[in-house]
Amino acid sequence: MSELPKKSTAFFEWYNEVLERAQVTDKRYPVKGLNVWPPFGLSIRSNFDRTLRSAVEAIGYQEVSFPTLIPETELKKESEHIKGFEAEVYWVTKGGATPLDINLCLRPTSETAMYPMFALWVRSHKDLPLRIFQICNVFRYETKSTRPLIRIREIHFYEGHTVHPTEESATRQVQEDLGSFAEIARAFALPYLINKRPDWDKFPGAHYSLALDIPFGDGRTLQVGTVHHYRDNFARPYGIQYETEQGGSAFGHQTTYGISERLIGGVIGVHGDDKGLVLPPALAPTQVVVIPVIGKGSKEAVEGAAKEIAASLSASGFRTKVDLSEDRPGAKYYAWESRGVPLRVELGPREVEEKAATLADRFGRKRKVARSDLVEEVRKDLDAFHAALSEKATTRFREQIGVASTLAELKGARSVHLIGWCGKEECGHQIEAGVEGGLLGTVEASSPEGILPGEAPPCIVCEGTPSRWSAAGRPL
Ligand SMILES: [Zn+2]
Repeated sequence: MSELPKKSTAFFEWYNEVLERAQVTDKRYPVKGLNVWPPFGLSIRSNFDRTLRSAVEAIGYQEVSFPTLIPETELKKESEHIKGFEAEVYWVTKGGATPLDINLCLRPTSETAMYPMFALWVRSHKDLPLRIFQICNVFRYETKSTRPLIRIREIHFYEGHTVHPTEESATRQVQEDLGSFAEIARAFALPYLINKRPDWDKFPGAHYSLALDIPFGDGRTLQVGTVHHYRDNFARPYGIQYETEQGGSAFGHQTTYGISERLIGGVIGVHGDDKGLVLPPALAPTQVVVIPVIGKGSKEAVEGAAKEIAASLSASGFRTKVDLSEDRPGAKYYAWESRGVPLRVELGPREVEEKAATLADRFGRKRKVARSDLVEEVRKDLDAFHAALSEKATTRFREQIGVASTLAELKGARSVHLIGWCGKEECGHQIEAGVEGGLLGTVEASSPEGILPGEAPPCIVCEGTPSRWSAAGRPL
């Protein structure tokens, strides 16, 4: 097989090719932006969903499932929201040959599907807080050129929705959601920034929006998640009202929390290398592959031992495969490396004789261990691999974030420029023009912490104070 394009010089060619070769998604479906998930990619996606589920269930969310179709009348109840989405919505207008009384849209997100039901579910302060989520597909008519996992028209989507008695309680939820995102990002060894989007760029209908941004390839940034505070902006038009403890009536305050398959694209783009995918153990469909290296007359003994090892690793909870194909060991190594398998167990006649095995991780670090300790050593190596992956990503993350003190410095290859911004819209638009992209917003936090170099300088445009550390970049 021909070599992959280089990640450092041809990022998007590399990205497309890595996804295609590993069969993460297949974009050849006859509708652009609607991709097929083959078994390998779907297995990554299932691991992704499992990580998300356990992180949000740990903070009290419960899973639900809502219909895909939303009546036009419900979609239009909140005026900002519909303005933000009307250019992206797919419509169903006929049932068979009969025009529908009320047009139905394919959900672009599920506020307007859920909130009429929330109005029925929420009666009293005892029903609050309400925290539910669903993992489903949403549809957005994307007009820019599509890109697998990143800019698509049918999107695999996690969405959490909450209702609270007060604005403060909803604000606390926002913080809890960020805490659960930190867990998810830790599992995927992914550093990120939390930026409060400028008002002109917040979610349609939101009081404010926090975005989880990562530096991506080719000097771009990628938004991989969002948490929005709605106040009672949706509760009022949808009638989400409850009886207070004192017997009065009040509108609920709401939040939402969204993560899509984009985050998978982010993980692949950040960790992958010139050999292909590099997957954190939490996402890898196969965490450990056992490869028999057969010498003359040793086939039976080596393959037998390889199968035993694979069985004992599987029984200990590792997603394990044994490769008994006829390919040469080098070809097998390459094939599994390109699919991002974190750890390989190599087993030859000598290892069988010595009751040992050689462990090699995706970064090429090798060591020989005793068969009797194998399960424990595999666990250690997977943990060490995850730590090394995280460290590598963090180093790169820091390199991709620079500080700019003049508009002229905003042009350049770094993904994120930290700047002072006074908060005024007119300055914001000048910053956006300077960076030929977007003002990602004020930096609220980051993982790792401590990327802001001291107090914020005056606004990069008007030199006004007070000013806050803000981030500018070129979002995909
Ligand atoms: Zn300013």
